[in-house]
Amino acid sequence: MNNKRVRVRFAPSPTGALHLGGVRTALFNYLFARRHGGDFLLRVEDTDQGRFVPGAEEYIIEALKWCGLTIDEGVSVGGPHAPYRQSERSEIYRQFTTRLVAEGRAYLAFDPPGELNERRAEAEARGDAFIYGAKNRDSLRNSLALPAEEVERLLQAGEKPVIRFKMPADEEIILQDIIRGEVRFNTSLLDDKVLFKADGMPTYHLANVVDDHLMEISHVIRGEEWLPSFPLHALLYRALGWEKNMPLFAHLPLILKPVGNGKLSKRDGNKMGFPVFPMEFTDPVTGEKWRGYKEDGYFPEAFVNMLALLGWNPGTEQELFSLQELSEAFSLERVNRSGARFSPEKARWFNHKYLQEKPDEVLAAGLARLLEAEGTRREEQELVKICRLLKERANFVQDIHAAARFFFHPPRVYDEKGTRKNWKEETPALLGELARLLEEIEPFIPSNTEPAVREWVTGKGVGLGQIMNAFRLAITGFADGPRLFDVIEILGKEETTRRLAVAIERLSSNT
Ligand code: GLU
Repeated sequence: MNNKRVRVRFAPSPTGALHLGGVRTALFNYLFARRHGGDFLLRVEDTDQGRFVPGAEEYIIEALKWCGLTIDEGVSVGGPHAPYRQSERSEIYRQFTTRLVAEGRAYLAFDPPGELNERRAEAEARGDAFIYGAKNRDSLRNSLALPAEEVERLLQAGEKPVIRFKMPADEEIILQDIIRGEVRFNTSLLDDKVLFKADGMPTYHLANVVDDHLMEISHVIRGEEWLPSFPLHALLYRALGWEKNMPLFAHLPLILKPVGNGKLSKRDGNKMGFPVFPMEFTDPVTGEKWRGYKEDGYFPEAFVNMLALLGWNPGTEQELFSLQELSEAFSLERVNRSGARFSPEKARWFNHKYLQEKPDEVLAAGLARLLEAEGTRREEQELVKICRLLKERANFVQDIHAAARFFFHPPRVYDEKGTRKNWKEETPALLGELARLLEEIEPFIPSNTEPAVREWVTGKGVGLGQIMNAFRLAITGFADGPRLFDVIEILGKEETTRRLAVAIERLSSNT
């Protein structure tokens, strides 16, 4: 750790919705900032105008908010280094580019894109990669190869060059990554990357390095896909004279598909039936619709807890962590190098665990919303009792909703197998007697109904199992389910005896 104040940034490009890998990057940055009492910044890297997706920035901000990741500085909250949207900072990048050109560390390139594409195709046909670099830059159309007057003439004629970085010819670059340790690159394999485009915008590389420096970022924590850019970024720090102040880097492991090989992609979700986005998103360009954890009924705490363990481990058996606990336990040293396999079952398991801990009133409010959407309204007290009874088997409030149907709709059909097994010739008479017994019980609560029914069954000398199963069928239509004495308390005496009467009539006519 260097001695700087910890300042980390999440720097998404608004090219679409934030995939769960992106949320994990944001989360690890946030946790690291909290762990070290530092700052968590949000910077929007929108210099690639061609890939800009309207609504993406708002989506990212909403998603971070839903996850509870509070932004200390940046887009949507402001701060001393504003603006935090790169498209509003192009003048800043231009100044640094001009300096790099003046010092001979970058140069102007006029090559028509078509020409470069041709060279690329030729190289590919030979089984080679075309690298615009030390080996060939002297034979290309740039300010290092062309005479100064020719460069001047092209500029006068209104040609718009790009600015390329002058990559050292053959240098071994040895860098430290907090997660991976030493990483080595050879510059002969790297090309003279474009730093500033003809459209007046910088590329990601230049803007990213300039901003990390100006915004005093102490640690760059980002996805593994940026590891190949690490040497260029380090060389840019050197070229700009900021090497001594360079942030420390940590490249997070990939998130892998639930099965098979490879990185989890947004398509896997729709294919395999789980969300890969924190919230629903409709792509305004393609019209494609993506489901979200939020709308699927996940609690943000469960989603965040699940994400935290994708690539990080606490070094203990503990799996359930609040955001606060994560903020205290998190360290980059405990982030794995190898890919983290995503498991939709585990995600559901986390939600199940959090659901068990939720106050019944909170679950009841969720249930009330689902019921309202289908035109059913019930007293809060009743819904609270239903949730208390059904939550044990539920992963989501929707599961409670599905399991609770019989509370709001009397059975229309009765489980066939259960009926065959438990509805005997004597059953109607017995249930009739049971109904009369129940009529007399006041108050109609389990501590009264249960002993009374048990005593009656014992006196009758019939099997408790069979009569209880028939009773359950009559009340719910199902062969199994939650504790029946609790169910009938919620339904109330009148509805209970009514259902018994209906079942006696309907099922007896079939036997
Ligand atoms: N804008 C880059 C992205 O979209 C940021 C990479 C980085 O953190 O350096 O992921």
